[in-house]
Amino acid sequence: MNAYDNALRQLEKAAKLMDLDPEVVARLSAPEKIVMASLPVRMDDGHLEVFQGYRVQYNSARGPYKGGIRFHPQVDLDEVKALAFWMSIKTAVVDIPMGGGKGGVVVDPKSLSKTELERLSRAWVRAFRQVIGPEKDVPAPDVYTTPQIMAWMADEFSTLEGKPSIGVVTGKPLDYGGSKGRGAATATGGFYVFMKLIEDTDIKPNKTKVAIQGFGNAGSIMAELLDNEKFIIVALADSKAHIYNDKGLDLEKVFAHKESTGSLAGFSGAKEISKEEFLALDVDVLVPAALENQITKDNAEDVKAKFVVELANGPLTPEADEILYKKGVVVIPDVLANAGGVTVSYFEWLQNISNNYWTEEEVDKELREKMIPAWEAIYQMSKDKKVDFRTASFMVALHRIAKAIQAKV
Ligand code: NAD
Repeated sequence: MNAYDNALRQLEKAAKLMDLDPEVVARLSAPEKIVMASLPVRMDDGHLEVFQGYRVQYNSARGPYKGGIRFHPQVDLDEVKALAFWMSIKTAVVDIPMGGGKGGVVVDPKSLSKTELERLSRAWVRAFRQVIGPEKDVPAPDVYTTPQIMAWMADEFSTLEGKPSIGVVTGKPLDYGGSKGRGAATATGGFYVFMKLIEDTDIKPNKTKVAIQGFGNAGSIMAELLDNEKFIIVALADSKAHIYNDKGLDLEKVFAHKESTGSLAGFSGAKEISKEEFLALDVDVLVPAALENQITKDNAEDVKAKFVVELANGPLTPEADEILYKKGVVVIPDVLANAGGVTVSYFEWLQNISNNYWTEEEVDKELREKMIPAWEAIYQMSKDKKVDFRTASFMVALHRIAKAIQAKV
């Protein structure tokens, strides 16, 4: 499964349905710029390693490129291109004035010491310094890149510029230009959309069972938000275990167990099940919040949830998407469900360049004011064109990108 082929299939499908100008389709069928660099890093034992680094600048019709940097052994150019394309869609979905980009390094960061990781992060900035910057291209964290890494990157860029230029990256620590509310933003954005979606239904939280795959930033905060509303969290998963209790998990105890042991495995208030059993649980809501390609043509038929909220990027393959749609499962797609993250990243950038910092309440209010209209536009599009929410999201976004492209020709 090539992620970029999947992305282009999604583009083609939406473009056809909305009769998108062929010139716009042509522009969006390839990135504006691809930069690749070798990153030489002196390791702690004195030998030199050279890592492969990427930055793909997909589309800037609506503003500076925006998108994370992934440090992962499986990073490849097609994956970075796909993620950069989806960022272009995502920024347009929430209507923030930015384009889409993505970066990566082929590396297993868990095999590096902290000092090696710092040298690699700074080497990435030195290699790409000419193409990034607060007005050009603003990276952020992604898989295995952290606020600490963003702090090193902002510092390296500022040193090279000879002035503080911390708006070059977002997702920084709070003490060094980060935004309040960034940590909870992804889950909070998805939560707002889900609550809006069920507003006019007869769904009662205390009768609604939820399974969440992934108990990191996105998944654990979503669990807390839903638990606060009295939804019944019956199943959770991390990389070590899938845990299940039909009566509902005691979230406070789960957090304490995860804190003390580092994983969900061995939690006494639940039984452990397999990944296959987890995805096929008889729940109302399934929240994939871990990895790509989790629900495929091989297991989509088994999904019993009525709602799937994609906090992860790309957890469903296009084939799985079609199967779920035919089964009547409502999918809130990643480009909408997890767009709260890039939205608050944009707020962080605004705060950096204006040197004026917002309260948590201000961030939350502004986030809601981006997520709800995004949802309303997509809901309307899906009703008007009788399409699923993913296709509707693409159509709303492509329409906005097309207008920006056409305004200049
Ligand atoms: P994270 O590293 O904080 O958490 C990932 C979680 O997934 C961990 O609990 C890990 O144990 C679990 N996991 C890993 N492999 C698993 C497996 N095989 N089965 C079950 N669980 C597994 O990452 P995160 O920031 O929460 O990101 C999760 C997803 O959300 C990713 O797809 C990411 O791209 C997407 N996302 C995150 C943000 C954000 O702001 N954090 C924004 C947009 C999209």
